[in-house]
Amino acid sequence: MDRFDVIIIGMGVGGEAAAGRLLAAGQRVAVVERELIGGECAYWACIPSKTLLRAPEARAEAARAAGVGTPALDWPELRDYHDYMVRHLDDAAQVRGYQEQGATVIKGTARITGPGQVEAGGELLEADHVVIAAGSAPVRPDIDGLDQVPVWTNREATNVRDIPGRVLLIGGSAVGVELGQFYARMGAQVTIVQRADRLVDREDPRVGELAREALAADGVTIRTGHTASRARPAGGGAVITLDDGTETETDVVILGTGRRPVIAGLGLKAAGITPGARGEIRVDDHCRAGDGLWAIGDVTGISLFTHVAMYQGRVVASNILGRDRAASYHGIPRVIFADPETPPSASQPPRRARPASTSRRPRSPWPTRSTGPGPTSATPADTSGCSPTAAAASWPGRGRSRRWPASGSTRPRWPSAPRSPSTRCSTRSPSTPPTARPTSPRWSSSPCRERPAVTLPCAREVADLAQTTQDAAAG
Ligand SMILES: Cc1cc2nc3c(=O)[nH]c(=O)nc-3n(C[C@H](O)[C@H](O)[C@H](O)COP(=O)(O)OP(=O)(O)OC[C@H]3O[C@@H](n4cnc5c(N)ncnc54)[C@H](O)[C@@H]3O)c2cc1C
Repeated sequence: MDRFDVIIIGMGVGGEAAAGRLLAAGQRVAVVERELIGGECAYWACIPSKTLLRAPEARAEAARAAGVGTPALDWPELRDYHDYMVRHLDDAAQVRGYQEQGATVIKGTARITGPGQVEAGGELLEADHVVIAAGSAPVRPDIDGLDQVPVWTNREATNVRDIPGRVLLIGGSAVGVELGQFYARMGAQVTIVQRADRLVDREDPRVGELAREALAADGVTIRTGHTASRARPAGGGAVITLDDGTETETDVVILGTGRRPVIAGLGLKAAGITPGARGEIRVDDHCRAGDGLWAIGDVTGISLFTHVAMYQGRVVASNILGRDRAASYHGIPRVIFADPETPPSASQPPRRARPASTSRRPRSPWPTRSTGPGPTSATPADTSGCSPTAAAASWPGRGRSRRWPASGSTRPRWPSAPRSPSTRCSTRSPSTPPTARPTSPRWSSSPCRERPAVTLPCAREVADLAQTTQDAAAG
């Protein structure tokens, strides 16, 4: 039986953040991943969705500026760029990178067989610490006939080959809004069905209003306060019946109906873990799930964001390394990457952001400051924009430059994360030289005072994750 200091189950962003720190500290680490190192975010969620959104956003931005012709969208080229950004769904470089850092990499499914014991890929492993970072999977709503019609989750929707003519999205949260805008701007006829009375209903009502206005301007039909009750096949597509009896024809149904923790087959019983009501692995404020047992990321059910998973990964690594570190979820920055970008107030946690149980009071209102370099701090030529300070750095999916993902040596360091939520409206110097890196801002040129108050380290954190995986690839 091979013995390690730490075994990490699942190498999405959470697992990667923990692994990076532990390896850097000289720990003997085994990482187990049954799909692709990088997890959902890198291949089927944050990275591809933001990559896809950028081209139509740039087009819309140009259309809003006097004196600029409207650029054409080139779907095959955008699709190629997307494929490049998701590494053609190939994690060989990541595997190599972790091996070069000293990790034992096992591609296979892990199952806990007892305290400190894990079976993975036909091998038995033992460790002082086991970190569960198994992520989440899409919820499939219980709709009569749904299994007989074309249904996409975020995986198919972000890896689309041909843009369908008609799309019906179930769920109007951030995922629904972002995908809805992307498909509408790529020419699809989009309908969003949302059970709640407003879009993005876990956030301040103004956020939902802004999202609604943006989507309506793109021609999206929004049916809030309704549920889809039936689906039936029709001509290769589907007819969806809503609870008020109205019917909508669509080529495909896309699910944005939430996610549930992935716990099946993990051996939670052997680990002595009883999952919470939503199937989540409950953790204390140190992300501890038991003796020598830790859980991080979506599987904890706490604020399903990349930066939260990474933060928890860092918290767990610190605790394993003997530093007493509690997590705080007091202020979770987040943003809806639609155009215009809508940042909910970071001072308010989204609903269900709290851990299932906490043994201490949170120490700090903000996630730990990121220390790693980001993709680029290229300043856009636009000088009239509202610049949430930390978001002034653009993220890797933007623009046409392919330099950053391929080389890691010249990236600037990120500015410090803000310590408290605030509105920052900065006018950037017109003399700032443009750079070869991605240059476009994520925010519109509307005046700062029209935007909800927030600073936005979220994009940076998303970029951080790509950084982690690219660094791993680079060794
Ligand atoms: C469409 C979409 C867009 C998003 N955009 C953003 C965004 O812009 N910003 C943001 O902050 N968040 C975003 N998110 C959320 C973000 O993707 C997740 O919060 C994040 O990926 C969670 O990371 P994780 O490490 O917890 O889990 P995952 O990334 O899901 O990784 C878990 C890994 O564990 C592996 N695994 C599971 N079980 C086992 C096992 N038994 N053995 C071995 N391996 C196992 C899986 O294969 C997987 O690779 C988005 C989500 C979606 C769906």
